Amino acid sequence: MKRGGGASEMSRPGSKPKRVSKADLPEKTCAVCNRPFFWRKKWARVWEEVKYCSERCRRDARKR
Ligand SMILES: [Zn+2]
Repeated sequence: MKRGGGASEMSRPGSKPKRVSKADLPEKTCAVCNRPFFWRKKWARVWEEVKYCSERCRRDARKR
């Protein structure tokens, strides 16, 4: 059976997560699909130059 009550243990107020959550990461908007994307480890060195959320979008940008 499911545990009743409705209150989720995951969302306790006041408890800060120890790990870095997505909300703490830098965010950018993709120049092609206009979707927000978050910092990734592979972009650590080039984050300032990153304009697209994915390799695919980067290629799409060149097509035009
Ligand atoms: Zn994109």
